[in-house]
Amino acid sequence: MEQQRVVETIPRQSSLPEILLGKYQLGRLLGRGSFAKVYYAKSIKTDAPPVAIKIIDKTSIVNTNMEPRIIREVSAMRRLEHPNIIRINEVMATRSKIYLVMEYARGGDVFSKIVRRGKLTELVARRYFQQLVSAIHFCHVNGVAHRDIKPQNLLLDHEGNLKVSDFGLSALEESMQDGLLQTACGTPAYTAPEVIGRKGYAGPKADAWSCGVILFVFLAGSIPFNDSNLLVMYSKIHRREFEFPSWISRPVKRIISRLLDPNPKTRMSIEELMEVPWLKSSSSQCKLDDKSDLTLPIPKTNAFDIISMSSGLDLSPLFEGGKKREKRFTSTTPREKIFERVDEIGGKLGYVVESRKGGVKGLVKGRFVLLIEVLEVAAALFLVDVKVLGEGVAELEEVWWGELKAGLEDIVFSWHKDTV
Ligand code: ADP
Ligand code: MG
Repeated sequence: MEQQRVVETIPRQSSLPEILLGKYQLGRLLGRGSFAKVYYAKSIKTDAPPVAIKIIDKTSIVNTNMEPRIIREVSAMRRLEHPNIIRINEVMATRSKIYLVMEYARGGDVFSKIVRRGKLTELVARRYFQQLVSAIHFCHVNGVAHRDIKPQNLLLDHEGNLKVSDFGLSALEESMQDGLLQTACGTPAYTAPEVIGRKGYAGPKADAWSCGVILFVFLAGSIPFNDSNLLVMYSKIHRREFEFPSWISRPVKRIISRLLDPNPKTRMSIEELMEVPWLKSSSSQCKLDDKSDLTLPIPKTNAFDIISMSSGLDLSPLFEGGKKREKRFTSTTPREKIFERVDEIGGKLGYVVESRKGGVKGLVKGRFVLLIEVLEVAAALFLVDVKVLGEGVAELEEVWWGELKAGLEDIVFSWHKDTV
């Protein structure tokens, strides 16, 4: 009777056997990720505690050379034992699938919990965050960065302890996607700007950024950088453009701001974070805040949507309705070349070209100033933003923009819809 019910919960269309690899009785589907399904399972041979089995379909691995590396990296993870890291018991592969047998976390993932029950109290958030930071630090010391920290990968065990999952799986993600899709289909809402930009990046600092986003999500119940338009979300991430809800305390605001520093060099490291008094204080009596009714918005657009929704790779319909005094376009021309062109055209049109802080260029003509910023929003895809400074210049728009636009035309990949 009991056995029948378990078997029934496996989706009908699934070709999975109910007994897996002669060892595990498969149970219900626990969750679905971008390239894997996770099932509850119990050993049929021993009384061992239940496990979660992540099943990855090999046909979705784009780059088949990656497979040995994936197996190697995941296997390496088995050496890392920490109370706040999901233990991997076994890694198995058949011709068409990879199986990861891991510790089962009964409390589900923190993302679902926040969606269901709203933001966390500061006490609960601190306890989870302490456990998260302890796990991340342990792995960094052992030479492994996570690179995909998000609330869906933070699980809770039967005692409400946080367990980080999917350590060492970033190689897997990378092998699934390429080019523009590679960066955009990860989890942009939690991803450090230098990772999105695909510059060579250091894993530990990228993890520190994600920790900043996580702490914000715990306490705000929403993600700091959000926009239905992926490119706009990227530009917000690059500029640290977010607002704190009023209830977040000052010491926490300071920590989040220092973790969400777009410059990895000046960003707070995990080591520094561990020394912060707020994090060191002990927290008891941690109960979830039931009264809260905030929910966590899920980012709506990803690069697949961008490609499929935009005909002929014209991204312009996807830009948000922009402000009048801001012009935007995307370009696949490298940043230096874009700036070279800006210098050249600006000079020809009689502007004084200045380099401003933060890598921004200024085109100055008397009191009229144009600020030009170039953001790498995905691998080799740049968002060029032209802002007007100074009052009483709106009527000149047709003139200055007409000239500038004509000069930049051939490096434009797609125009912002209000820019054309
Ligand atoms: P993602 O992390 O991208 O959501 P995964 O394939 O890693 O995708 O997992 C999908 C979901 O399955 C998770 O979000 C979580 O809810 C659930 N899950 C994953 N691993 C476990 C586990 N060890 N114990 C319990 N639930 C799990
Ligand atoms: Mg996961």
